[in-house]
Amino acid sequence: MDEFKENELAVLYDSRGRRYLLTLKEGGLFHYHGGVVAHNDILGKGEGREILSSLGNKLLVFRPTLEEYVLEMPRGAQVMYAKDCALIAAYADIKPSDRIVEAGTGSGALTLFLCRQANQGMVYTYEIREDFAEIARKNLERWGVKNFVLKIKDISEGIEEENVDKVILDLPEPWIALKPAREALRAGGFFVSFLPTILQVHRLVLSLKKIGGFAQVRVVESLVRPWVIEERIARPELRMVAHTGFIVIARRMESP
Ligand code: SAH
Repeated sequence: MDEFKENELAVLYDSRGRRYLLTLKEGGLFHYHGGVVAHNDILGKGEGREILSSLGNKLLVFRPTLEEYVLEMPRGAQVMYAKDCALIAAYADIKPSDRIVEAGTGSGALTLFLCRQANQGMVYTYEIREDFAEIARKNLERWGVKNFVLKIKDISEGIEEENVDKVILDLPEPWIALKPAREALRAGGFFVSFLPTILQVHRLVLSLKKIGGFAQVRVVESLVRPWVIEERIARPELRMVAHTGFIVIARRMESP
């Protein structure tokens, strides 16, 4: 059994499905409307257990998934959702050894995901705003990833890395970074851009074609619809996240 240790993260779910994220401390107490939970009831034992609060309310205990962690961590900018991170990983063929350039870092949600996917590689992440970079750094450190370099820099002014496998942009005007991206990418490497509106997508795709050096341009979006399954109910949930953004993917050709 892999027991919880001091300073590890744990996620608790109450009977109504509410989620609580804790950093476990010897002697620590977690207070919520359903009572108090002693961290010592979690430390030294495994995950996938049910525990009782001081008022006798049941809670489920797990290690948080990256998706759960991202939903609970402090934010500067709006975070990228797991469904979009997953699609980027698959379509841009992110590999363990990849060297990836990313901008903007925002709150670091996509950065965390990329660091995990490229866990033998490196993620160079550019953020123009110092305050957002600080939030992202804390989020990355709390999760414990090490394979990143965070730069407070405007990516349109140039990418310092060469021969990278992927350039991944989540910023409003990706066309301002197209030349640096083309220069930094190795032949066969992937350019990815996440964009909330189709007007941005239209402009970017035309720019990619005009600038040259890119091929295999594709545009996709993902809709994830959760379902409710009970004894006499089996239907989609009434609410869903209907829109986050479009993903534009292209490949770098040898000569522009
Ligand atoms: N993908 C991030 C969210 C990015 S939000 C996440 O999952 O958490 C967009 C970010 O891009 C903002 O933080 C913004 O400050 C940054 N940004 C905008 N233009 C930029 C530029 N030219 N260079 C670097 N960062 C930029």
